[in-house]
Amino acid sequence: MPQNRLSLTAGIAKRMDSTDQTKRDTLQRVFDLMTQWLEKAKDPDTPVINYRQPSDLAEDLALNPTFSGAGELGLLRDVENYLENAVKTSNPAYLNQLFGGFNHPGFVGELITALTNTSMYTYEVAPAATLIERAMVDKMLSYTGWEDGSGVFTTGGSNSNLLAMMLARNNAFPQTKMHGLPAGVRPVVFASERSHFSMLKSANIIGIGQEAVVGVDLDENGQMRGAALEKAIKRAMEDGKTPFMICSTAGTTETGAFDAIDEVADIAEKYGLHHHVDGSWGGGLILTEGRNNRFRGLERADTFAWNPHKLMNVPVVCAVLLVKDAQLMDRHIRTMDADYIYHDNENSQLDFGPASLQCGRRVDALKLWLAWKYYGDDGYAARMDKVLELASYATQYVEENDRLELLFPTQSLNVNFRFRTPDGIDVNLFNRDLRYRLIRTGQAMVNYCHLERGLSIRLVLLNPDLEHSDLDRFFERFIACGKEMLSEIEAASTSR
Ligand SMILES: *Cc1c(COP(=O)(O)O)cnc(C)c1O
Repeated sequence: MPQNRLSLTAGIAKRMDSTDQTKRDTLQRVFDLMTQWLEKAKDPDTPVINYRQPSDLAEDLALNPTFSGAGELGLLRDVENYLENAVKTSNPAYLNQLFGGFNHPGFVGELITALTNTSMYTYEVAPAATLIERAMVDKMLSYTGWEDGSGVFTTGGSNSNLLAMMLARNNAFPQTKMHGLPAGVRPVVFASERSHFSMLKSANIIGIGQEAVVGVDLDENGQMRGAALEKAIKRAMEDGKTPFMICSTAGTTETGAFDAIDEVADIAEKYGLHHHVDGSWGGGLILTEGRNNRFRGLERADTFAWNPHKLMNVPVVCAVLLVKDAQLMDRHIRTMDADYIYHDNENSQLDFGPASLQCGRRVDALKLWLAWKYYGDDGYAARMDKVLELASYATQYVEENDRLELLFPTQSLNVNFRFRTPDGIDVNLFNRDLRYRLIRTGQAMVNYCHLERGLSIRLVLLNPDLEHSDLDRFFERFIACGKEMLSEIEAASTSR
């Protein structure tokens, strides 16, 4: 009998071996495809996007799973197809959003996170990851100067802002956690007129309504300053509203402006308000500037949102909310009514789950940890210096070129500009069309926004692997495309 059983398991082992071999081959092929794709994606001559109409793309992708599975070959075909049609965000002409580039150790971390597939709620099921997340939170707290602080990785800056707003609300109205907001109060939050739209979403989610977010007037550099803020607070109080939070933005999405954090801190202290700093975009610059210059006063704030998936360019998603007073988190967020996950044992105080808005949560700290160890504090500071330098270079390029016009004084990493057009041409429509033409031809992806002076091409410098020559190429393509459009307009008007 025992012998029989042995041979039986041996047979199973053998069969498993052959399918395992096929899977190993597939994996090897996928790795080959990945390295080839990456090399191609980084090549400046590769179109940054293979621009397709949705119907064509849908057909090529063969979207619907079929009755019988497509197996290994189908898997490889689908992967190739997806890669072919993915936007090449590691391409030097990808300048469209606040993430991009390719971070080698961060990418390795992302792979290992998927490989080891666990969930961040308990030390028990994610021991190393829990210690790594704790170490990363502590490391980041050392930059804010919050020794008794705490923090948690979130699903992004929007989620960090939401968690901060919830914390502030529950701290101001402590009965809310158990019983909801007290009747009759009209809580309000103050933020830069150009604060991120996630502030509105957060206000919606926490039940105070989007109109509870009061936009504060900005100065000529797009900064929220103390005087304008105080005026807005007084007006709201006169209207019978109850201020409970101020959000400073450390790097606005559109102009890269940093609110005057120290002036805001004065006001927050004077009125006893929670002071959140949304550093989702510009937060990474703290690595080179410490608490000087743009971050002066941050040590007096209460919460700080920092997105390593933007400026530290590790793969999306990687975001953190830091909290100055660890007890706030425990008092107002922590819920442990899930005794099927959370057990009272020797290590349960290490569990991240109770303080997160999620239950299951990805290991996003690993890629940051690997990247930070790979580059070192100094290496990351140098990467921040590099992107600042690239932004200065791009600003200078715009200022020195007759065809281009700077639309906002560069504050950090956002360079807002447009193509100058002759009289009789709508400059806003022209620049919007120019931008779409660059995308359709795969030459560059750059985004736009609306500023006081009109539609603005918003060039964002966050990829420290770019060189001046990459920016030269981008501007050359931009200008050539604009000239081509001008001559088409001219040709059309003379033929009429
Ligand atoms: C990008 C951004 C956010 C949102 O971050 P996500 O990770 O995209 O959710 C919040 N605030 C500012 C200022 C941002 O630029």
